[in-house]
Amino acid sequence: MTSNFVSNRLLIYILIGIVVGSAIGGFYPTVGEELYFFGRLFVQALLVLVVPLIITSMVVGVSHLGDVRKLGSVAGTTILYYFVTTAIAVIIGISLVLIIEPGVSMTPQEVPFTENLPTRDLSLWGSVQNLLESLIPENLVTAMAENQVLPLIVFFVCFGTVLTTLGSTGERVIHLFEGLNAAILKIVQLVIWAAPVGIGALIAGRLGAAGGFLGFWPELVKLGLYTLTVILGLSLQAFVVLPLILYLFGKRDPFSYARGMLAAIASAFSTASSSATIPLSLYCATKRNQVSQKAANFVIPLGATINMDGTALYEAGAAIFIAQTYGIELTFVSLLIIFVTSTLAAIGAAGIPEAGLITMLIVLEAVHLPVEGIALILTIDWLLDRFRTAVNVWGDSVGAAVVSHHIEES
Ligand code: ASP
Repeated sequence: MTSNFVSNRLLIYILIGIVVGSAIGGFYPTVGEELYFFGRLFVQALLVLVVPLIITSMVVGVSHLGDVRKLGSVAGTTILYYFVTTAIAVIIGISLVLIIEPGVSMTPQEVPFTENLPTRDLSLWGSVQNLLESLIPENLVTAMAENQVLPLIVFFVCFGTVLTTLGSTGERVIHLFEGLNAAILKIVQLVIWAAPVGIGALIAGRLGAAGGFLGFWPELVKLGLYTLTVILGLSLQAFVVLPLILYLFGKRDPFSYARGMLAAIASAFSTASSSATIPLSLYCATKRNQVSQKAANFVIPLGATINMDGTALYEAGAAIFIAQTYGIELTFVSLLIIFVTSTLAAIGAAGIPEAGLITMLIVLEAVHLPVEGIALILTIDWLLDRFRTAVNVWGDSVGAAVVSHHIEES
């Protein structure tokens, strides 16, 4: 059995999982809700791998760079890639909502939005402080217990870098981490076979919870133009911008690369979590698409928390949509502030379901838009979250290929 045959079969099973899951959840919501249990098992199997995978892949990735000075160049290219792609996404989001104006014909929500309001400082400086604070773990065990990706990355990049300076003692430890990393990836390979059922069950469960096709249809109609605008923007980023970058700067065929990543993208769609998808993204990039471990081990986990093209596009678009529904004119300066804060809010959003909705308060506060406006888009967020998470994960995967190519060249 060739590995290509295996991967083709897996992709077909995943597609069948998506179709069957949508049909069950859409037409038989209560059955869909029952099936959700199997989806939860799949998510748990992925989540349990996140911490060991981040730890081992950071150490292996950093040590494989050879010369520690290369870390600076890899980090520079990675950050540049994150910034450029996120900026393009935000510009697409802002432009489309300004052109299509989905909020103009809407009326503002009367119900005040108080649900899940975070207690933290939402000002620009407060958000930067929060972000910087989250980089340094106060307690490593707490960071692991809470699946906090960012502090673990920072600590284990330092740890891996230090190991490379310790000569043979360090090498022995690095070998151990290489073995651990290979073992965890083998477990991911096993979990991946549960993906068709897991993905199908998650979709069935979520659609079921929304009352099936008939249940959420009225919400979809009410927010139809807004939903279409967001999906159009995400599609431009996913099908035009990112493939072009992949082709030009990663020297890859976008079609075959996307095929190799499909299991990860489908799981991002069904789990709505970039963090939970890290194991599959890493596996698909390195094993299916042969992206070098040096690049993928670094770019994918970091990207899962700070590189969110889909979320950034959504945050900017949604803020302007809310302004339109309230009939608030936005000046050019306000648009600039939305540009900056949406990027920041996407960086600050955790890779978990609907995190972007909460960090969107940063954007709304910065341009003094009513936070109650969030109530308007709350009902459809679970659906749009899936699309934006899929784009987030696709953006990280493209970044891994671009950085991998950069490392080969230099
Ligand atoms: N669910 C998204 C992710 O995990 C974050 C968000 O936009 O809510 O990437």
